[in-house]
Amino acid sequence: MEKHCVIIGGSHAAAMLAASLRQEGWEGMISIVGADPTPPYHRPPLSKGALNGDKSDNDLLIRPAEFYEKNNIDLVLGCDVAKIDRNNKKVILHDGAEIAYTRLALTTGAKVRKIPIPGSGLEGVCYLRDLRDAHQIRKFIGSGKSAVVIGGGYIGLEAAASMRKMGMNVTVLEAQPRVLARVTSPEISAFYTRVHNEEGTQVLTDVSIEQIEGEKFVSGVRLANGRVLPADIVLIGVGVLPATELAEAAGLEVDNGIVVDEFARTSDHDIVAAGDCTRHYNPIYDTQLRLESVQNANDQAKVAAKTLCGKLEAYRALPWFWSDQYDLKLQIAGFSAGFDNVVLRGDATEGRSFAAFYFKGDKLLAVDAINRPKEFMLAKRFLAEGKTADPGRIVDESVDLNDIF
Ligand SMILES: Cc1cc2nc3c(=O)[nH]c(=O)nc-3n(C[C@H](O)[C@H](O)[C@H](O)COP(=O)(O)OP(=O)(O)OC[C@H]3O[C@@H](n4cnc5c(N)ncnc54)[C@H](O)[C@@H]3O)c2cc1C
Repeated sequence: MEKHCVIIGGSHAAAMLAASLRQEGWEGMISIVGADPTPPYHRPPLSKGALNGDKSDNDLLIRPAEFYEKNNIDLVLGCDVAKIDRNNKKVILHDGAEIAYTRLALTTGAKVRKIPIPGSGLEGVCYLRDLRDAHQIRKFIGSGKSAVVIGGGYIGLEAAASMRKMGMNVTVLEAQPRVLARVTSPEISAFYTRVHNEEGTQVLTDVSIEQIEGEKFVSGVRLANGRVLPADIVLIGVGVLPATELAEAAGLEVDNGIVVDEFARTSDHDIVAAGDCTRHYNPIYDTQLRLESVQNANDQAKVAAKTLCGKLEAYRALPWFWSDQYDLKLQIAGFSAGFDNVVLRGDATEGRSFAAFYFKGDKLLAVDAINRPKEFMLAKRFLAEGKTADPGRIVDESVDLNDIF
């Protein structure tokens, strides 16, 4: 039987895995089986420049459609995999069709976390994960209209900034005492709240929502304190959950993500996994991580492809991430969870350019750089090399950046 690698997914990790398989010399068949009807596309622009439809769907494609044809990668799109039959090495689609594999890759990513607020079934209440969601959102946005964004995480704040830039009245509702509470420091949270306010976006924290109001279409959001915020659209962005059902039903080890080893192998070594759906060990931080980032989807997919080609190379990448809001480019190098000290280079309370260095004891964990590409690039390099930085030199902007690490 000809070798056949079936990749379940169809997004960043799937596209990279398929391309890397060919680069690494995989000569057998490759099929990407994805629920999304569109060939793999960049998701980050969906909350940024592409939210208003400025970019066509075609502009978002990770690779042109011809790439898959040229590289003999079969795209089976708009097809949900219902089951993995590990004993007979085949996947079963929702319509009952079966595809046999010799090797399987899971790149099932993440799905939005839904919250049971009364009224969340009204038209105009939207989530944002894929292109179909973006198309749906576009029906309800436009200059002069009102938006309520539930959730002050990166995606909620980015979408809020994009809608505000379109001339909409935007309010962000956050249940925690500050935005971005799960992922960053109070200094960065306060900075983003200030900038959103300066741009005319209202940010309400410690908010409890009673219900989303409307008849057929959404008309507003009622808070527990009785206040009603008018809304033509309510965008809910309260995080994602790893898509692990298939893996779990197939008896693979799952624990807040599909558990993989350093070679991206699941508990069944004929099956690899990569991207948002995995939980893996990161040797730089000596901890288990489940990341939601393009960097991880791409880098882990390359490792998985090598593994499938018999070239075992351990995954050892520094996590990095970015977020664009208004004229702010945030670039994050490293992983700041567990920090006990933040040292700022530049002023976070005025202007729009500074960097936050996160430490645990003497160890530099991560850097959040806002409109500071040089700090980001250097931090990315030195963190990967395990270097730390001198807090006394960080704060002194007269010290050359190269001399703080
Ligand atoms: C609006 C938005 C903005 C973002 N911005 C940034 C950013 O600025 N920077 C950054 O680093 N990251 C960003 N991200 C996160 C980034 O897009 C993800 O980390 C990345 O998409 C992960 O890729 P993935 O291939 O692992 O999973 P996903 O992109 O989640 O793709 C998984 C795919 O698998 C398919 N699938 C799942 N189950 C099945 C099944 N049973 N059968 C068939 N197909 C299935 C899904 O339909 C989906 O298409 C953003 C995400 C969103 C939604």
